[in-house]
Amino acid sequence: MAAIGFIGLGNMGAPMAANLLKAGHQVLGFDIIGAARQRFAEKGGRLAGSAAEAAAFGEFVMTMLPAGAEVRAVYLGEEGVIAHARKGALLVDCSTIDVESARLVAGRAAERGFDMLDAPVSGGVGGAEGASLTFMVGGSDAAFARAEPALKVMGKTIVHCGPAGNGQAAKICNNLILGVSMIAVSEAFALAERLGLSAQTLFDVSSRSSGQCWSLTSYCPVPGPVPSSPANRDYKAGFTAAMMLKDLRLAEQAAVATASVSPLGAAAANIYQLFTGEGGAGLDFSAIYRFVRRE
Ligand code: NAD
Repeated sequence: MAAIGFIGLGNMGAPMAANLLKAGHQVLGFDIIGAARQRFAEKGGRLAGSAAEAAAFGEFVMTMLPAGAEVRAVYLGEEGVIAHARKGALLVDCSTIDVESARLVAGRAAERGFDMLDAPVSGGVGGAEGASLTFMVGGSDAAFARAEPALKVMGKTIVHCGPAGNGQAAKICNNLILGVSMIAVSEAFALAERLGLSAQTLFDVSSRSSGQCWSLTSYCPVPGPVPSSPANRDYKAGFTAAMMLKDLRLAEQAAVATASVSPLGAAAANIYQLFTGEGGAGLDFSAIYRFVRRE
């Protein structure tokens, strides 16, 4: 069993760290927010007094932070991970951040002799609690092999996507598909309604024909056809519209940086921007159906 410093004990980090504890790993956690620290302590976790102390704790340092700015600060600062991690520690950042920051931080880690993985996840808070996350991992083969057993404690599917930054690239590209497809499915259901076609009938047709996709068959944005979808619990998240907007903005940023053409991604980001501005930020991202339908 490993000794793991875990920094960022929020909605995702706390249950992920708790699963590591449950599996018998030693985990020393840290978060800048008192309530997050307390929640982890209530789950039986030990707390560090600083990020530096958590970083120095063991053979792994894991982080689950909001965005690129926090990851750069926590890794690159004087009191940060790279300055304080134990010799030979493997650094694993599970946050969803821009590819550029992921590659920058991994490069700085390598200069100081550390292996680093970017390992963003999909599966949300439910996946974090149930240890069923999907990890998309960027970094060397050796680092991946070393981290895989610990990642398996927190997730079901662990995919090595290539060198540093490729985990973030996979996450951003996947969520570009998801954001655009959720809006497309929502538009189709709103149109069907005005054409006098019931939601169930459209579902029965499209779930068995060429319109089939995850947004339709697993996460249908209209109440009824898929009982487990957030549409049936008043769009309680799940994965919030604010998170989807964040990921679509990351995709947009990556498209600009690589001179890629992504007009649907840009349009989807703008639609989510409008929706979050109208008070939808905390709802599940599939509530975009309400916006499209103009409820
Ligand atoms: P969160 O805001 O609940 O947790 C982030 C935590 O990091 C907070 O507790 C915050 O206090 C802490 N933090 C910030 N700066 C810090 C610092 N300098 N030192 C120590 N701790 C610091 O967010 P979350 O929902 O847990 O998401 C974390 C990451 O996972 C994000 O990048 C998000 O995009 C990604 N993600 C979230 C979900 C989801 O459904 N929530 C799903 C997939 C991926």
